[in-house]
Amino acid sequence: MAQQEDVFKKIVSHCKEYGFVFPSSDIYDGLGAVYDYGQNGVELKNNIKQYWWQSMVLLHENIVGIDAAIFMHPTTWKASGHVDAFNDPLIDNRDSKKRYRADVLIEEQMAKYEDKIQKEVEKAQKRFGDAFDEAQFRSTNARVIEYQQKYDNLHHRFQEVMNAEGGIDLDGLKQIILDEEIVCPISGTRNWTDVRQFNLMFKTEMGSTADGASTIYLRPETAQGIFVNYLNVQKTGRMKLPFGIAQIGKAFRNEIVARQFIFRMREFEQMEMQFFIQPGTELDWFAKWKETRMKWHQNLGFGAENYRFHDHDKLAHYANAATDIEFRMPFGFKEVEGIHSRTNFDLSQHAKYSGKKIEYFDPETNESYTPYVIETSIGVDRMFLSIMCHSYEEQQLPDGQVRTVLHLPAALAPVKLAVFPLTKKDGMPEKAQEIINDLRFHFNCKYEEKDQIGKRYRRMDAIGCPYCVTVDQQTLEDNTVTLRDRDTMEQHRVPISELQSIIEDKVSITSLLKKLL
Ligand code: ATP
Repeated sequence: MAQQEDVFKKIVSHCKEYGFVFPSSDIYDGLGAVYDYGQNGVELKNNIKQYWWQSMVLLHENIVGIDAAIFMHPTTWKASGHVDAFNDPLIDNRDSKKRYRADVLIEEQMAKYEDKIQKEVEKAQKRFGDAFDEAQFRSTNARVIEYQQKYDNLHHRFQEVMNAEGGIDLDGLKQIILDEEIVCPISGTRNWTDVRQFNLMFKTEMGSTADGASTIYLRPETAQGIFVNYLNVQKTGRMKLPFGIAQIGKAFRNEIVARQFIFRMREFEQMEMQFFIQPGTELDWFAKWKETRMKWHQNLGFGAENYRFHDHDKLAHYANAATDIEFRMPFGFKEVEGIHSRTNFDLSQHAKYSGKKIEYFDPETNESYTPYVIETSIGVDRMFLSIMCHSYEEQQLPDGQVRTVLHLPAALAPVKLAVFPLTKKDGMPEKAQEIINDLRFHFNCKYEEKDQIGKRYRRMDAIGCPYCVTVDQQTLEDNTVTLRDRDTMEQHRVPISELQSIIEDKVSITSLLKKLL
């Protein structure tokens, strides 16, 4: 685990050193849990967004996009339940003065039990080799049984407390923290305050005070922009159920604990799609969207073993099914995307609060009803982080050197092709520039002439550039170049005229999308 934390630290500094992610307002020492994307980060982020947007809007005839404003009428957030219930239970440690989410402290405790079980299983697996029967081991090993019991008891208590009549039982949460003897990781003590509720929405004011300013919120999710536009889109687009509305945009949450780099930010970006359906069909569509979204993730080639579904035991009162897609980060399996069956809760609430009729007339059944909704909701920044974590490698080379390489999926890489003149003479720089001038319309290219070739390769490896081309003496004679592959480091001689066709297919978002069909 310590080793994994080390890797994570290296990834964070790599992100800064190579222009992917900077702390916000860095010259003023940053702003808590707010980050800026640099010259390479913004390209990777845009490519992720494009991959998502096109998979939704281009590949589905019945999904359209919108771009709603961040500011919304304040009643939106009354109707959605965020004003009254978008709270996290917080707890402070009196000695370190650090603040924590009480539910997260308990979830981490459960994860510790799971880890312990996993370690026992792995140890035994090594010991018994092929003869190992995991199910039998889990049901008979005394230590595993003890940890499992502890986990089950804690899980059961946690469920009861989180789902108590009238909302979360705050005293109950604190009692669990005391009973489990959970300590503050900073002070190491159990000197906890009571648990309190904290609303995560940022507030601001609109209009001058003379006009009578009103309190408005920075949206904590993009979804409500879709719900309040349901009628607009359905009518103007003459959409028939089932259909979806997709949106990418910023969201803001005043997170209590924001320590894991871009995993939990106060300003972040979401890609959400609300799929409107006939009531009664929701569980089928839920299953279908689970499958579709998992395929989208696995299509990046990171290995199916790095993903899992985590079905929610605790459902929001309006949801009748919910799951997370989790990815194996260096700090454990973590949620990257949520898929929720939200019934007709949101549309009904907006109908109630706005006084407008929000219904769909179904020409097939001649009935009007409020559509049900399946939502898929993914954080761009978490997706970015998972890609970075999986792609980063400090690779031991046969000659004893170590190279840092980002094995980014070529279609997502910020720069697709780097072109180097071997030396700065004999017209090589001009030839290299000529190649770039030709190819820049097709994909992102970069020219580099400083330092020896080996160093230039390393710099490109570090930003995940999948291809490098070198212009040398032979190029001037026969118009061929060496093409170097980032992952294998192999080099081939290819005619300049073939570069576009060789590279374009491998680096285009289209190539990724085709694999989805
Ligand atoms: P968590 O339990 O981690 O707080 P959540 O369940 O509240 O997340 P949702 O409201 O379902 O998250 O939001 C959907 C997606 O938005 C999440 O899967 C995640 O990728 C992203 N997301 C949510 N909060 C943040 C945040 N503070 N920073 C970055 N991404 C976030």
